[in-house]
Amino acid sequence: MARWPAALLFMCAVLMGAIPVEGATPARPASFEVKGRAGSLGLLPVVSLDDGGSYVSAERLASLLKGSWSVKGPRATLTVSSRTAQFTRDQARLTVAGEALTLEAPARVTSKGWLLPEGFLAKGLGKLAPGITAARPMAAVESRPRLKRVNTSVPFEELRYRSYPSFTRIVVEAGAELSYLVAAGQKEIRVRLSSLAVPALRVEGIDDGLVKEVRLESTGPDALLKIVLEGRAADVKTASLQDPFRVVVDIYRPKESASQGAPKTNGGVTPLQLIVMDAGHGGHDSGAVGPTGVMEKDVVLDVTRRAARMVEEGLGIKVALSRSTDVFVPLRERTNFANKRRADLFVSIHANAHPRSVSEGVEVYFLSSEATDNESRQTAAIENGVVELENPQSRQKTDMLKSILWDMAQSEFQQESSFLAETVLDSTTRSLRLVNRGVKQAGFYVLGGAAMPAILIEIGFLTNPREERKLASPEHREALAKAIYAGLAEYKRRYDQRVRTVQSQPGKSETSR
Ligand SMILES: [Zn+2]
Repeated sequence: MARWPAALLFMCAVLMGAIPVEGATPARPASFEVKGRAGSLGLLPVVSLDDGGSYVSAERLASLLKGSWSVKGPRATLTVSSRTAQFTRDQARLTVAGEALTLEAPARVTSKGWLLPEGFLAKGLGKLAPGITAARPMAAVESRPRLKRVNTSVPFEELRYRSYPSFTRIVVEAGAELSYLVAAGQKEIRVRLSSLAVPALRVEGIDDGLVKEVRLESTGPDALLKIVLEGRAADVKTASLQDPFRVVVDIYRPKESASQGAPKTNGGVTPLQLIVMDAGHGGHDSGAVGPTGVMEKDVVLDVTRRAARMVEEGLGIKVALSRSTDVFVPLRERTNFANKRRADLFVSIHANAHPRSVSEGVEVYFLSSEATDNESRQTAAIENGVVELENPQSRQKTDMLKSILWDMAQSEFQQESSFLAETVLDSTTRSLRLVNRGVKQAGFYVLGGAAMPAILIEIGFLTNPREERKLASPEHREALAKAIYAGLAEYKRRYDQRVRTVQSQPGKSETSR
């Protein structure tokens, strides 16, 4: 193991006019830092359980907040000043200051006492104790940055990024654990990745107002990730994670500009402005194919274009299409497209396939890591299959799915997505008198990266000869488009109602993300 020369790194940081230099010997933020208005209240260690989730000790949190923690049978209460958060053992639902909230995982009771899912810190803490936040601090600053050198090179797997309303996330995946060094400047952030073998220079244009582009290139035995900024970054957070092995760099927008791009739903006050409609598949990916050869990619493109026109004309909402011709678009680019444009909704349109040819009807999905039933899981697996077309050497799909679900910003939009799904499905099936197969949840890769409410509509089964015939006819496609339009119109009507309600309640306008 050799030392990365500290002087060189320091020089690089000085040249770039930056001071925050992090030395990371596989940095895995092990604690949250709880901060009040006056400064840090202390560290809250992360407890990883074998369900894969990250938790924090309820009692430790209570003591940092100078509050109290009391347990009564399966229920427990965290009290801070006069506000309470009430938890139930093994339940993800809780109430905070009288409001119901659902977390990504249940509260657990272990030998370490009561553990709260880390999501509580993001979603509930601010309501329980206004002004208090908890964040994983930057990787520990070491006086002598070190880079763990391994003798064999680490294979490079993937470079990906996503733009979220408040930050841009850049992820480098590798075949083994990565150690890294960061030097953050005002114009550029450099991350040196120890022993990572990058086959060729990779450049990704991001242009989201914060990050201009990322470049990944080899430099000696290591790789250098250069993140070129086009806006001012308020903060940079990094972590080395596993399963899959990856280094995650989150670059935060300053507060003012973040709130401009903040999601407008969930009680927001701005009207719907832009919907991204995503016609599934395209190009060499035909999607499902019916018994007489009707292809999903053609059917859904036609329906999507028809629906987009109706929405623009009838609702006055702008629609952007992730593809408007018969071209192949990788799944990830579809949501990146929507995120870059700060779309309000993401609607992906597909047609279904099922081994049993009698299956028929319309179903609408929103994203969840847990599928509602086996058929939903199967549908998601079929739709996710395209990932292999994008990159035949990619690891197993399940791994990829795991990592996108881990990274996803979708969870905070889950409730709104399910509301959108219900509204669109009801309206679609009612107006067309089609079989309503219900709102379902499954792990759809394409929805994972959307930083806004997102749904996937399966407009019928191409594997059913009767439905294939219908899907081939322009009249039926027009009717389907009209039905999707009607669903979005109904959603807009209810959305506008909520906006009015919020506006008529002064002091309730949303400022946080
Ligand atoms: Zn499809």
